[in-house]
Amino acid sequence: MKSTLASYFEKTYGRPAEAFAQAPGRIEFIGNHTDYNGGLTMGVAIDKIVMAALARRDDKKLCFASIKTGEKVLVDMDDLQKRDREHNWVNYPLGVFKYLLEAGMTADCGFDMLDMSSVPPGAGLSSSAAIELSSGYAMASLYGFDIDRKSLVRIGRQSENLFVGMPCGILDQGVSGYGKADSLVYIDCLTEDFSNFPLPHKCRFWLFNSTKKHALVDGLYAERHAECMEAARVLSEGGKMRLLRHFTMSDLDAAKEKLSQKVYNRARHVIEENARVLKAKELLERGDIAGVGRLLNASHESSKTLFENSCEELDYLVDTVSGVEGVYGARLTGGGFGGAVMAFTDDTFSQTQANEVAQIYEKKFGKKPMIFACASGDGAKTV
Ligand code: ADP
Ligand code: MG
Repeated sequence: MKSTLASYFEKTYGRPAEAFAQAPGRIEFIGNHTDYNGGLTMGVAIDKIVMAALARRDDKKLCFASIKTGEKVLVDMDDLQKRDREHNWVNYPLGVFKYLLEAGMTADCGFDMLDMSSVPPGAGLSSSAAIELSSGYAMASLYGFDIDRKSLVRIGRQSENLFVGMPCGILDQGVSGYGKADSLVYIDCLTEDFSNFPLPHKCRFWLFNSTKKHALVDGLYAERHAECMEAARVLSEGGKMRLLRHFTMSDLDAAKEKLSQKVYNRARHVIEENARVLKAKELLERGDIAGVGRLLNASHESSKTLFENSCEELDYLVDTVSGVEGVYGARLTGGGFGGAVMAFTDDTFSQTQANEVAQIYEKKFGKKPMIFACASGDGAKTV
């Protein structure tokens, strides 16, 4: 990809790029909506990446070019404002640049940027974290700014939370930053501690994107976020506000009367999901893959009934794929309210079987899901 991007860059800007970096998309393995509650989650960096190329300019402008449309968006370095909806794609790297400056990076001139991607956007594979981390590493390299991995992961999240305006937790950027081939990334979102541990041999990940997206998906995500914070506020009993991570099911049950059934259910999902992540780690370490598969399905059931971030299409995909030979387990992955289902399989699960699942789905919903076969891959790096 690097040589192709290098030649596109020269065609676009009339001179070679000086800094390149890449970052992968990710699959949320288990730990759904736990991240912003200070909880536990696990993900896998995949073999699909965004690569960013940059070169210095001799003025104080930042230029972002789209490889698809050829469109160029010019931003004044001294006026780093969020772009409007039509140019929202610029906000991800622009926010990263803004927070890198706040973190102490000095930029004596602007840059030209171009990126290439094999991460399908909006498909549940976190193309947004991949553009944040790849552009961040490329910027740090261009300006000679020495920054550690954790800080860059945090800056990616800051850009998405505060600049783009999506209140996601640290999962997407953490996995894109800390991924490693043949490994899972385990994240304690409270301490922001990231660790790798080995994946079982010969496992694969299949993503089935329903292509359905709830019209209010961003609003619903924010609503779930608010419901979790409400539960944590009540459980904190007016004391210092803590996160759901700090509470157990017995804490929650003791406060049941003070919570609406809906808020109780949201909190129960998060508290039990944290326990499932811990259990999944333990079972993986023991080599009990079938047990891990059952936890994935239990996670989905909880999303469906308690957190209510599933939908008919995702439930149907999970039910269909779970019955197929070679599948350990399946669950919705990512924010939910439409989007994608992940199936965790052995290496005998084939494209033919995946296509059969897609056909069964198409018969019911009149539309084929998009299928992505993913292997694990390495995290963000300069190239
Ligand atoms: P996901 O992260 O699951 O793919 P999001 O809605 O969070 O979905 O992010 C998708 C958005 O990220 C795209 O609509 C686009 O604005 C931005 N984006 C994704 N890939 C790139 C890229 N290569 N360059 C610039 N912006 C990108
Ligand atoms: Mg995203």
